[in-house]
Amino acid sequence: MLEDSPSDAKLIQWELKKSNVVFITNVVETTSDFINGLNSFQPDAILCDHSLPGFNSMDALVLAKRYAPDIPFILVTGSVSEEYAVSSIKAGADDYILKTNLARLPVAIDAALKQKKAEHRLRKSEEQFQDTIDKMIDGVQIIGFDWRYRYVNDTVANQGKLLKTDMLGFTMMEKYPGIEKTAMFELLSSCMRDRELREIENEFTFPDGSSGWFKLSIQPAPEGILILSRDITDKKIAMGLLEEQNRQLRKINAELDRFVYSASHEMRAPLCTVLGLNTLAKKQQNETMRQDLFMKIDTCIARLDHIIHEIVHFSRNSRMDIAKELINFNKLYDESVLYCHDIAGADKVTTSLQVQGDTSFYSDRGRLEIVIRNVLSNAIKYYDSRHAKPYVKIYVHISATEARIEISDNGIGIHDKHVEDIFKMFYRVSEAKPGTGLGLYIVKEIVEKLSGTIRVQSSVGAGTTFFIQLPNEIAAVEN
Ligand code: ADP
Repeated sequence: MLEDSPSDAKLIQWELKKSNVVFITNVVETTSDFINGLNSFQPDAILCDHSLPGFNSMDALVLAKRYAPDIPFILVTGSVSEEYAVSSIKAGADDYILKTNLARLPVAIDAALKQKKAEHRLRKSEEQFQDTIDKMIDGVQIIGFDWRYRYVNDTVANQGKLLKTDMLGFTMMEKYPGIEKTAMFELLSSCMRDRELREIENEFTFPDGSSGWFKLSIQPAPEGILILSRDITDKKIAMGLLEEQNRQLRKINAELDRFVYSASHEMRAPLCTVLGLNTLAKKQQNETMRQDLFMKIDTCIARLDHIIHEIVHFSRNSRMDIAKELINFNKLYDESVLYCHDIAGADKVTTSLQVQGDTSFYSDRGRLEIVIRNVLSNAIKYYDSRHAKPYVKIYVHISATEARIEISDNGIGIHDKHVEDIFKMFYRVSEAKPGTGLGLYIVKEIVEKLSGTIRVQSSVGAGTTFFIQLPNEIAAVEN
């Protein structure tokens, strides 16, 4: 109770008691006592006389609004002009009572308390409602006819990578320059114009260059349009992956079809030869000729075995995950040369390796081994016997991003008309040398699996060079 007259204070207390109001009072008359009282006494209602020593009821009202906005403030005054009473109600006072009519005070307090409680409940429920809308999965925004953001919830601000305060009151074009040229904006305009629901799944590019997918439902609203937006970027990425997997599966299936057809054909040829040779061997009396037939059977079986080996490589490449290991090119080279030492001509061909670049190179060791072995064994196998010094030179250049591998020989070379085809499944230029026609097909598959490239340059009589480029996975390993 802000009251400087003890008798008036008594009068007010008496009036309240008379009406059976249960209360205690804290009577103050100075600004500081008033503020302290708001904190320590924590009143349920403030009764305020008009003129007090050093300040008046308007000053008290300002303080009450600042420090205790939820507590009813009732002006209890001896005499005051009607204008003053109205302006204090406008300033936030809940009621005013003339001291000559104190009988109305209990009812006024009761009404003001109820009013404040109702306001408090309403504010709480508005806050809860606001909180619920802010935390919604969907973004909610209202755009005015002037394209200004009238309302945005937290989700919209997050989706739009902005703060609410950065959006409200600004136009969409100010916040996202160039938005007016997009198909999405065209749809917003059509809803604004035709007042009809529009829906779209849209990839939105942000000013920083990043992008995200959003499903938008655009509806007419009294202020302009209301947009509900859901971030579907993860769903789109998952769908993209699924589509890619589908594409891969279809490719593998088609390959498998071709493979089964070609492989059965390729494998049946040596098998039929083995059967024929076997029949001949059974009848053959001459031991030397019989041994010769067995040798031929061995060759056919070795060819079959080789085909099966390559089929396994092919199958592993399409199914197994890519490893990222430190590659030691010198070791890889030594092992590959050893692997090739049985090939006819290996003793005549000089091989060499030169590695440049002091960066570590990371890739799939097993796959790289198959690539090097295949290309190296071809370079030896197709050496030019008329050449005085047949060679195979391997040159590797490593950088932080890739390895460039060149494998050159001065062998028989490949005719232009075959160069395009040598990477095809079971493609062989001639039957003069043993082989399956699978090697380079598998090499290409592997290089592509490792996200690299392979090309060939060749001329008959001069030799062949394979250029292989593979990404350095060092960053993937270090992260
Ligand atoms: P193959 O088992 O027949 O060697 P590949 O797929 O490894 O099968 O090679 C396909 C064809 O490409 C070979 O038959 C051969 O004619 C040609 N070829 C590959 N590498 C060389 C090379 N270094 N020099 C000449 N011809 C080559």
